Amino acid sequence: MRIVLTSDPSLTSTFREIPLLDFLPCAPVENVPKFIYRILDTQLPEENGKLIQAPYAIRKIEAALLKDGFKREEVVVAHPKKIEKFIDEKTTIVGVNTMDPYGLGPVTLMFTEGGKKTSYSKLLFTSLIKRLRDFRKRRGYKFKIVVGSQGAWQLELKQDLTEELEIDHVISGEADHVIGNIFRNIETGGEDKFIKINAWPKIEEIPTIVNPSYKGMVEVMRGCGRGCRFCSPNLRMARFNPIEKILKEVDVNLSVGQRKAWLHSEDIFNYMVKDRRNFYPNEEAVIDLFEHVLNKVDFANPTHGTAAGALAAPRILKRVAELNHANLNKWIGIQVGFETASPELIKKIANNKMKPFSAEEWPWVLLNGTYAFNKFYWFPAYTTIVGLPQETDEDEIDTARLIITMEKKLHEKLGEKAHFSVTPLCFVPMGSLKKNEFFNIEENLTKGRILHIYHAWKHLAWEVDHGLKRVTRKKPNFLIFAPLAKLGSRLVVRSIRKWAIKKGINVDKPLEPMDIKIEEIKVD
Ligand code: SF4
Repeated sequence: MRIVLTSDPSLTSTFREIPLLDFLPCAPVENVPKFIYRILDTQLPEENGKLIQAPYAIRKIEAALLKDGFKREEVVVAHPKKIEKFIDEKTTIVGVNTMDPYGLGPVTLMFTEGGKKTSYSKLLFTSLIKRLRDFRKRRGYKFKIVVGSQGAWQLELKQDLTEELEIDHVISGEADHVIGNIFRNIETGGEDKFIKINAWPKIEEIPTIVNPSYKGMVEVMRGCGRGCRFCSPNLRMARFNPIEKILKEVDVNLSVGQRKAWLHSEDIFNYMVKDRRNFYPNEEAVIDLFEHVLNKVDFANPTHGTAAGALAAPRILKRVAELNHANLNKWIGIQVGFETASPELIKKIANNKMKPFSAEEWPWVLLNGTYAFNKFYWFPAYTTIVGLPQETDEDEIDTARLIITMEKKLHEKLGEKAHFSVTPLCFVPMGSLKKNEFFNIEENLTKGRILHIYHAWKHLAWEVDHGLKRVTRKKPNFLIFAPLAKLGSRLVVRSIRKWAIKKGINVDKPLEPMDIKIEEIKVD
């Protein structure tokens, strides 16, 4: 086979389809017993070594190569565990897609004490590449190992390891419109080791996937116009896929019985946005999108969104909940950036994140945005950032205070319907803050940072006890996972407390909730 494509095994694991377990590869192998990975790391099915459903990014590359003249019989998307089956003397390129190859992503750094320990994602990626490298040597083959990744910067940052693994080329940037030429150049030896693609494809240059994607993922937009300074997607211009193109991909997934669609979006509330100054959502366009998709599938939820967009257009939340028949036991999950509770800091680093509201209203937006989400059975999984440039310890304490305020006030107002999670991430210099230093969690722990991390995890542990059963109900895997999740989250909270005590910080001293109110939301 001329071109063999695959993903590292952390991206082909289904993790027993338990929400948020996709983060398991971020955990350090030194701390998680091997049997836990063995139980939870369930891999995607394959047919004769070919992936039936594959990670979305690799499906795009497959489609782009076919569109560019490569023949069907020359390109295969293989399961990483069966990849050798397709490699022979005719193979010119083995392309590997990965997300967090060396474990330097923001979530991973938080779990691995700033990279001191080895994440499961790094172990899986490096083991796969070593296997390929040794196989090539053993058989005397000449194929090139090409890695394409949102995490390509990690391969450039740790060049020694990249050399040791004998990776031939690393591609970064959007490749849909140029991958055919790049692969041909690699085949003839005319490409650099690090290939950076700076020009974005136009929407019509992005091919439609031709084979099913994992989790029914379908891209509805690429890039984000909000311009948060720490973020990579912000560097790309926002482009929106038209509904017809989205539905074609939904049909491809339906062909294997995938009746759920996961709509990839940097901010779903910005889909087809016209107001690029205040980012008031284009309500009709977002609702129309979900109506079309849910005409075909049983359930559809977005990947990412903003609390400001949700609060500005609760009609979207309500309609999408109705279309999905959401209820107390069926929630619409969405990942949302919380970042910090500080109005001053959010103004400096993400000046459009709160629009159409003002920076001064940011904590109020987060509280009321969560209220809007929960009222219509949306479950926001927030991420905050520890160690942002220019932050003060007061900012960090405020983030902890806002978490406890949300916990208290939402529970008072909504009772059993109050649900959210907050995962603190380490600052990683990306986007326009690329020139800043990495944040070293071990060396820079302050009282505010510890309180921020502690209260986020304490709330997460509460959600594991109270909310998890709602999102995993009726799933047989819940029986295996629930005790593990409860134990795991309690252990994390306990170890943060110990860590704090060692630093002389009392995490049990009550914090003052913020003086902000929940306002009633009216939707016609
Ligand atoms: S809203 Fe999200 S995706 Fe958009 S620029 Fe900000 S952090 Fe990035």
